[in-house]
Amino acid sequence: MRAAIIGAGIGGLCTAIGLARAGADVTVFERAEVLKPRGSGLSIFGNGLAALDALGAGDAVRAISGSGATASRAGQRTPDGSWLATIPAAGVGELRIVHRADLHEQLVALLPPGALRLGVAVTAVADGGRRVEFADASGTAAGEFGLTVAADGLRSAVRRSWPGDRGIRYSGYSTWRGVTDRPVDLRGEAGETWGRGLRFGLAPLADGRVYWFGVATMPEGAAIDDEFGEVRRLFGHWHAPIPELLDATDPEGVFRLPIHDLAGPLPTFRQERCVLLGDAAHAMTPDLGQGAGQAMEDAATLAALLAPFVRAGTAPTAGIDDALAEYDRLRRARTQPLARRARMLGRVAQARSAVGSGLRDAVLRATPPSALARQAAAVQHWQPPVPGAALQPAGGDQRGISGGSSASSIT
Ligand SMILES: Cc1cc2nc3c(=O)[nH]c(=O)nc-3n(C[C@H](O)[C@H](O)[C@H](O)COP(=O)(O)OP(=O)(O)OC[C@H]3O[C@@H](n4cnc5c(N)ncnc54)[C@H](O)[C@@H]3O)c2cc1C
Repeated sequence: MRAAIIGAGIGGLCTAIGLARAGADVTVFERAEVLKPRGSGLSIFGNGLAALDALGAGDAVRAISGSGATASRAGQRTPDGSWLATIPAAGVGELRIVHRADLHEQLVALLPPGALRLGVAVTAVADGGRRVEFADASGTAAGEFGLTVAADGLRSAVRRSWPGDRGIRYSGYSTWRGVTDRPVDLRGEAGETWGRGLRFGLAPLADGRVYWFGVATMPEGAAIDDEFGEVRRLFGHWHAPIPELLDATDPEGVFRLPIHDLAGPLPTFRQERCVLLGDAAHAMTPDLGQGAGQAMEDAATLAALLAPFVRAGTAPTAGIDDALAEYDRLRRARTQPLARRARMLGRVAQARSAVGSGLRDAVLRATPPSALARQAAAVQHWQPPVPGAALQPAGGDQRGISGGSSASSIT
């Protein structure tokens, strides 16, 4: 099977690795000339690692990521450093922290030679995902494929012409992210600190440098002249080692990102031979640290469900269609409740009023650690479907593409 993958983010790269491993002939179209993820870290929980294992990428990612967070005391603190809650080890599971640039580099290294086409923007997906039109510096062209995977991110242009798409929504808060230039001793403590309309999080990378983020409630279009100065103003007086982390960070590498998620769940992730994957399908706020983990799960699920057909070398239409319908069913059921939960958690964590944040802190203090661990473990418990397992028939809410020959322009 020839598969077109739009986007070389974590979702697109993982999908390409999985489908290629299953035997598909994959092409990844990435509009950027160079892959340069901004300097920040990423948490990968046990479910993401299970997905990477299924894709054959688990060990490679473990080798470049840090497991220090699992050995640390983690949970939520107040700005003066006192603990509101500690999450027991069972709730953290096999958590890894990786630098995004390292992760990208590792995933690209696992692609088949020539699969990644940088500087090529997909301009239209037509014929129900069987035809992809694209453009690069030398002009425009088109290709025929058995499957198109739109992993084109939060602002997915493929999703824009999807039935039921309600666009994206600003969460009400924005996030600065940074990585220290040198190792900083976290004294065995990690996690988040919750203030009023403000949060700060920190986690150790494999080499002792520290990934940190600061979150502040603000209007979507807020203009800030001195971004790093604002981070210092908001968080520079919080508990140790936060001031030390800021001192150890190059301001040039710190960026602010307004946080969005999908304004509402999509009725389907699939139209004929085109599927949405990763943020394109289910962008969620980062409050559960699960967006990339879910993209990894999507990729592992799609590869497992399609593997029997790709491997056979022939492509029985009904089998592929059933596999894609099952992908849609499984992945909406898993990701959409998580997106709702992340959104809700973000609202609570960003509580700004004295009453709201006081209530939040009181509830957190009163919640038994075992309950926190159970909740966290439930999110992280996931296994990929078994390749070749009997597929369930598509549910009544599945929707097919209408007017399959029409092209959806995405530029
Ligand atoms: C502040 C913050 C912190 C986060 N922390 C975590 C965390 O700790 N753990 C976690 O699991 N998740 C986290 N996430 C979420 C995670 O970053 C995303 O869910 C994940 O990166 C999405 O990957 P993706 O491949 O779906 O999309 P993207 O990374 O957006 O990739 C999409 C790619 O498609 C390309 N593209 C778009 N349109 C076209 C086109 N027409 N033609 C060709 N190419 C195209 C883009 O250039 C881009 O490279 C966080 C998110 C934020 C904002």
